[in-house]
Amino acid sequence: MNSIDRLLRPSLRGRRPYGAPQLDVSVRLNTNENSYPLPQPVADAVVRAVAEAVPHLNRYPDRDAVELRTELADYLGHDLTIDQVWAANGSNEILQQLLQAFGGPGRVALGFTPSYSMHPILAAATGTDWRDGGRDEDFTVTAEHVVAQIERHKPDVVFLCSPNNPTGTALDPAVVTAAVEHGDALVVVDEAYAEFARAGTVGALELLPGRLRLVVTRTMSKAFGLAGARLGYLAADPQVVDAVQLVRLPYHLSTLTQVTAVAALRHRKALLANVTVIRHERDRLVRELSDLGLLVAPSDANFVLFGGLADSAAVWQSLVDRGVLIRDVGIDGWLRVTAGTPGENDAFLSALATVLKSA
Ligand SMILES: *Cc1c(COP(=O)(O)O)cnc(C)c1O
Repeated sequence: MNSIDRLLRPSLRGRRPYGAPQLDVSVRLNTNENSYPLPQPVADAVVRAVAEAVPHLNRYPDRDAVELRTELADYLGHDLTIDQVWAANGSNEILQQLLQAFGGPGRVALGFTPSYSMHPILAAATGTDWRDGGRDEDFTVTAEHVVAQIERHKPDVVFLCSPNNPTGTALDPAVVTAAVEHGDALVVVDEAYAEFARAGTVGALELLPGRLRLVVTRTMSKAFGLAGARLGYLAADPQVVDAVQLVRLPYHLSTLTQVTAVAALRHRKALLANVTVIRHERDRLVRELSDLGLLVAPSDANFVLFGGLADSAAVWQSLVDRGVLIRDVGIDGWLRVTAGTPGENDAFLSALATVLKSA
């Protein structure tokens, strides 16, 4: 072993960095970004905010991000206050901070895969043991199953994801309450796609009052179309927010990030206008993929998981060859596609129809 591997923490040896392919093709529907650029008035407001902030970059940012957390609490509603909200560079950093504070060596995190692949990766990076509770064939998880897995693995942290990536379906809130009411873990509900949920979906924010061990994580990367700005956040009991302060880096959130997010939140009506269009397009993808004779998981997100493919890896490659990039999430026979603009979705659907016909 004449390499850097010798020096590396044993648990990281042989691992590969996580990341979806960033290929230069014309239709990119692989990372669940918002396909729409920022509306010009919002972009202008961000530029003005950044221009005002730049002369003051000689100073460290507001370490507590007070203005930003106030705006986030206001956006979330549910009578949340600033002491219940915390922000970081993407919800990935939020999840990492939660594991740094509540996981770590000798501790256990439990998830239910297929789910967001960063959850086990962040567990490994923080020295937290990972246990997989698994899911049913149809990708659902019931409250009974979650409780049984909690009793079996006795986790310190439980990851739920609703709407679940990569399957797309939102969780029954009874699953969340069951997870909080059994065992002694911090229960993290990753709601990166909450804004896209179908009408009538009950999110985990409703469940926060009186539940010290419940944390809801959100992001501006998807519905807000700000993946490039890196802003994620959590809502929880103030004691959880206090605990995260023990592991956050001082000044982790740059002034430019903070003013960008604040400007975006103040223009949220314009920014989120596209969400309605994307939800319609998502529903259209579900319909048209079903019409092609494929299996489709019900979606509350801005993406659709479809299956019944004899050779999903070959279909993925044939689509790339036609300039359409979607995601192979490693579930045999299934692929995931982001709901893009109507034009992007048309290009995907017609390329897929051609590929399936020639297969
Ligand atoms: C995209 C995504 C995130 C977002 O990560 P950011 O770091 O906020 O960009 C978090 N959780 C899930 C399930 C996601 O799919």
